[in-house]
Amino acid sequence: MSGVTPVSAILLFGATGDLAQRMLLPSLYGLDESDLLPDDLVIIGTARNPLNDTAFQAAARTALEHHVAAERLIPERVARFLQRLRYVAVDVTDPGQFQHLPRAVGETGRGLAIFLSTAPSLFGVTIAGLAAAGLTGAEVRLALEKPLGDDLASSRMINDLVADLFPEPRIFRIDHYLGKETVQNLLALRFANILFEPMWNAGGVDHIQITVSETVGLEGRVGFYDRAGALRDMVQNHMLQLLALVAMEPPSSFNATSVRDDKVKVLRSLRRLDAATVPTHTVIGQYQTGAIAGGLVPGYRDELGGPSETETFVALKAHVDNWRWKGVPFYLRTGKRLPTRHSEIFIQFKPVPHSIFHGVAVEANKLVIRLQPQENIRLLMMSKQPGLDRDGIRLQEVPLDLGLTNVFAETRRRIAYERLLLDLIEGDPTLFVRRDEVEAQWDWIDAIRAGWRANSMAPKPYAAGTWGPSAAIGLTERDGVSWHD
Ligand code: NAP
Repeated sequence: MSGVTPVSAILLFGATGDLAQRMLLPSLYGLDESDLLPDDLVIIGTARNPLNDTAFQAAARTALEHHVAAERLIPERVARFLQRLRYVAVDVTDPGQFQHLPRAVGETGRGLAIFLSTAPSLFGVTIAGLAAAGLTGAEVRLALEKPLGDDLASSRMINDLVADLFPEPRIFRIDHYLGKETVQNLLALRFANILFEPMWNAGGVDHIQITVSETVGLEGRVGFYDRAGALRDMVQNHMLQLLALVAMEPPSSFNATSVRDDKVKVLRSLRRLDAATVPTHTVIGQYQTGAIAGGLVPGYRDELGGPSETETFVALKAHVDNWRWKGVPFYLRTGKRLPTRHSEIFIQFKPVPHSIFHGVAVEANKLVIRLQPQENIRLLMMSKQPGLDRDGIRLQEVPLDLGLTNVFAETRRRIAYERLLLDLIEGDPTLFVRRDEVEAQWDWIDAIRAGWRANSMAPKPYAAGTWGPSAAIGLTERDGVSWHD
């Protein structure tokens, strides 16, 4: 969709909320700081709080001071950015209040991007209010934050409701992982190098692990998290998107249709887990009191202040049933209060078919793609240890490191929302999630949850600061595989 005209206005619902203050306003500033916003772009914030433009600008200044590095807060750039900001108070549950918006938005001739950074339960009334106010025309794009529903049925309801007013090419569903540099780099690694692709299949790969681990606990997300749990909070969206990017066929071109067509094929090829297979293919856990970084932390139920059967950890074994991945397990694991905070894709290649080095261990190659906290790609290869080998050759596994942070030290690493907001402004949906992807993701997740219910599976306890319940180790060890910690 390159070549689409950038919009001249952004209407940001939930402008006083955590995401807007922590990520969206700082990201818009980051774009403005680099002269990437259209000169005449206005940003209209809205929420119930009865602020005027000046108070909203003051709140935005505070947000920038908290969330943008001090050396990047150049006074004239900050002033230019703040001048773009307007504010209109709207309670979206009151249809009458939408009438104030068209005047504030002004002419949308060059286009309007609406960003819903509010609870999804408000999407329906918001979209109805926007329609009544005449703000759903052909020049309007709509961005939606996750979670898009909490199962397939509710996700379909949201998608139907949005589809009544916005055709799919004008809907931008956000999964902020797709805005991450290293996640996009996966496509470059796979499809801009000839080296990996011939091995990137069941012939060359033994198994794949995807880990997203957090050290934090509930962090004030009490109500939301306890209703969601790790499977829906992390696996349904971010981790399945990572899996799709790792497993997809080479798209014919780097554009929205090709990339998303090939991702959705993977999501639809995921082998369904059901009541018969979830007990052996999934492990769920909930953290108890334990130690993180040497300090004692409370258990989940203590943090929550009540009983709960919500999983704060999930590990599972998945299969992509197609020619490329026949028989290759994908192990996924995510949780809170784990020993480290990192996101990683680990590809274990197969061993050499025949070793000429008798009596010497030859480790199979491994590719480790670290997404956070630091981004790097590391290929573990076998090498000869230097020496005269009088008592036989000695081999050692050594890393071939692509230290992206060093190679691109001069380039500021953008936060994911900078990329996504710029793509939204310019109308490129490649890094946004299409309806068929979200629904394929929910379909697979719903079957797992139904399996848990059918088996009355309750989360197993694990001490905070450990890698989940011991059954998670059993999940891979049964296949002779160890988690890459
Ligand atoms: P939040 O801090 O609770 O903010 C919610 C925003 O919605 C506030 O600006 C609030 O302002 C506004 N709002 C609430 N009720 C309203 C109403 N009836 N009419 C108009 N505005 C209303 O939530 P958040 O953390 O920013 O999250 C926003 C969305 O992003 C949620 O869907 C969340 O799941 C998603 N998300 C958040 C994060 C994150 O890191 N925070 C990450 C991923 C996804 P008033 O109270 O002034 O109306």
